[in-house]
Amino acid sequence: MQPFSISIVDDPSVAVATVTRDPHAAFIAGGTTIVDLMKNDITNPALLVDIDRLPYASIERLPSGGLMIGALAKMSDTAAHPLVKAGYPVVSQALLASASSQLRNMASIGGNLMQRTRCYYFRDTGTACNKRKNGEGCTALAGLNRIHAVVGGSNHCICTHPSDLAVALVAMDAIVHTRGANGERRIPLSRFYTLPGTTPQIETVLHHGELITGVELPPSALAATSYYRKVRDRASYEFALVSVAAGIHMGHGRIAAARLAFGGIAPIPWRSHDAEAALVGRPATHESFRHAAEVALHGAIGRTHNAFKIELAKRTAVRALASVGGIA
Ligand code: SF4
Repeated sequence: MQPFSISIVDDPSVAVATVTRDPHAAFIAGGTTIVDLMKNDITNPALLVDIDRLPYASIERLPSGGLMIGALAKMSDTAAHPLVKAGYPVVSQALLASASSQLRNMASIGGNLMQRTRCYYFRDTGTACNKRKNGEGCTALAGLNRIHAVVGGSNHCICTHPSDLAVALVAMDAIVHTRGANGERRIPLSRFYTLPGTTPQIETVLHHGELITGVELPPSALAATSYYRKVRDRASYEFALVSVAAGIHMGHGRIAAARLAFGGIAPIPWRSHDAEAALVGRPATHESFRHAAEVALHGAIGRTHNAFKIELAKRTAVRALASVGGIA
């Protein structure tokens, strides 16, 4: 680990200004991601700006009926919060399926969204990785790619996004609130992450020094019965091979609205609007759900070790939809 300095701040504008003016500065909150990356020599900020004292840890009902989750709320507190558990169970379930209880007690909501991929090669500086250094190449393309993407990747990067929470949030139309040098922004989570394309080193639309202050969950007719299902190699403290966030709202015996998002299969939390549209107007049956799953995975590309994810994602989607559709 390289030497670094820490600056503890209690004013959001000071935090933003400090990181904005120093290209070698970074925010730290719970530290469960960035410290690992620093120890592995993946990132080497010369200055860490500790934002843990900023006033962004609350979880509140909004006048609209939605929720605002502060970026510094801990994962464990958010998962256990009555408003989250009752109003957006998919969010609580995704959080509880993440990491370990010790990590959830430390890690923040904002930090969770800013996690970096668990691609083995990204964390091994002895191998080529375009995400670490664009132009080096992607070792995963011809290497071990069992945990890698089947949709959304490119010839430059096929990593997967590690956050369970982001999958649940994108299914619930969450909006990320930020504060930067040019003021505040509200960014739909569906437009927050960027696909790798030819620039896998760029992962979000955030500017350097722009701070996540909270996540807004809009009111939704299907949120209260939403559900998160995660498939992984072991029952805890493991990232998703495949996960699904699902929601259905029924009207007159037919599906009136649906939400379907996947984790573990793409470089970003992967919401399938096509599959959601394919569900609307249909009855809640296994046939409807299998059809939606086929639509969602249409065009998926399996590589040497990860082709199994395509069928696994379809089956996980059917199980999740059957659960929220009341036919499980
Ligand atoms: Fe790097 Fe992406 Fe290739 Fe992994 S998949 S080695 S993160 S470029």
